Amino acid sequence: MTELVKNYINGKWVESKAKETSDVINPATGEVIAKTPMSTAEETQDAINAANAAFRRWRATPAMTRVRYLNRIRDAFEDNFEELCKILTTEQGKAIDESRGEYRRTIENIECATAIPSLQMGYNAEDIAAGIDEQVIKQPLGVFFCIAPFNFPGMVPTWFWPFAIGTGNTYIVKPSPQVPLSQVRQFEIIHEIGLPKGVLNMVHGGPVAGTTLIESPDTIGMSFVGSTKVGKLLYKKVGEFGKRAQVQGGAKNFLTVMPDANLEKSVPAIITSFYGCAGQRCLAGGVLLAVGDIYEPLRDAVVDASKQLSVGNGLEEGVQMGPLASKHGMDNVLKMIDSGVKEGAELLLDGRSIEVPGSPNGFFIGPTVFDKVSPTMTIATEEIFGPVIPIVHVKDLDEAIDIIHACRYGNASSVFTSSGKVAREYSYRVMAGNIGINIGVAAPIATFPFSGMKDSFLGDLHGQGQDAVDFFTENKVVITRWF
Ligand code: NAD
Repeated sequence: MTELVKNYINGKWVESKAKETSDVINPATGEVIAKTPMSTAEETQDAINAANAAFRRWRATPAMTRVRYLNRIRDAFEDNFEELCKILTTEQGKAIDESRGEYRRTIENIECATAIPSLQMGYNAEDIAAGIDEQVIKQPLGVFFCIAPFNFPGMVPTWFWPFAIGTGNTYIVKPSPQVPLSQVRQFEIIHEIGLPKGVLNMVHGGPVAGTTLIESPDTIGMSFVGSTKVGKLLYKKVGEFGKRAQVQGGAKNFLTVMPDANLEKSVPAIITSFYGCAGQRCLAGGVLLAVGDIYEPLRDAVVDASKQLSVGNGLEEGVQMGPLASKHGMDNVLKMIDSGVKEGAELLLDGRSIEVPGSPNGFFIGPTVFDKVSPTMTIATEEIFGPVIPIVHVKDLDEAIDIIHACRYGNASSVFTSSGKVAREYSYRVMAGNIGINIGVAAPIATFPFSGMKDSFLGDLHGQGQDAVDFFTENKVVITRWF
């Protein structure tokens, strides 16, 4: 029988009694490999109670001891690296090398949080008035949680929980029901290293679990990563309850190629940006803006490179692009391709009819390139989340930036150029949280904030780095006079 994944509450694996479940499907084969319970409000509250009970002991645990647990988790993930990557590819579909990249980042996130004893230091001022000193201490607050998306099931929760528990809070992870298995294996490993019970918990499910986490009087704040539609809904709800929130939403990232770009070096970066993780990255290229004379050589080079990409079951070494993560995701991308055709773009390369030997039931779409795209077409304005390159020809940088600014999203944007002046102007003017200069995927490492603007981010403090430490702590001011 297919395994029903368990919740992890108060240091124990607990089977959910929920009647509703959802299938976990290997997207390369179409096989059901597990089931996710849609945990009930009571089960979710059990996790909140466990985290709440653990908080008092955990916040009193010395910072260096807390960080020692993070080091052990880091080492244990490293020891189980290949197994974790295989589980990730099996449930999500991405190429095995992409899973290795994701787990490298996952481990870096934990490594970065081991610096918390320094990052969490407050500050002091002496003699703010005669004989009076003032001090800021950064205190943990209680129970935080994250609601995670399907596209990076190994890494996304580690943008948050290492920083949350490192600063002395306790935590609940709610993975996407589509891809729970990476988190299940991570929690088995975490269980083995002996983290005190209740510090880190996991509840599987959907809206009921998410709403319970938001509405419970015993939670402090939410980190959400997913679509802007759901993110906005939950951001409002969290606001009603007066809690903290950081919401990382959807994206449409513009890659601008200037006439002076080095094509030979830029094209591989552009290809990786659009097709990496089969286009299901929040930092993926969304529209290719070809400026002036570069248009024709760029278009031809992009089509050539797209044809070279090897597509297949992500578990096979050497495969560069796996399937879409779900049938639903694949159907959405097919609809977007249809809309491009209907709205009059020219389909230069059509990935819809791809056949992958040995994977007849997989959710595959091959590399797809549209030319003669106008900036108002659906494929140029909406997130596709699939391996599709819409090419828009523009006359100059000003026109490119006008198009970028007309889009509601602002997660990332890149420029390919040999000019320092253009690069500086781009990073100065473009309204996007992560800017790449001759970089296709502008993904900040764990010591930097994972930024985002406009409809791609709601909140003020971002994930990762010092922002994460500030999100998970309160600045308490202590003013002291001794008589
Ligand atoms: P989604 O919004 O459908 O789901 C995200 C999470 O929200 C899931 O865990 C889901 O179970 C939960 N959820 C859905 N409806 C809910 C509700 N009513 N109440 C409570 N919880 C609910 O997103 P997805 O399809 O899993 O992820 C893809 C999206 O995530 C894309 O738009 C992508 O750009 C975005 N994303 C953004 C970033 C970023 O850093 N900005 C990173 C990764 C993914």
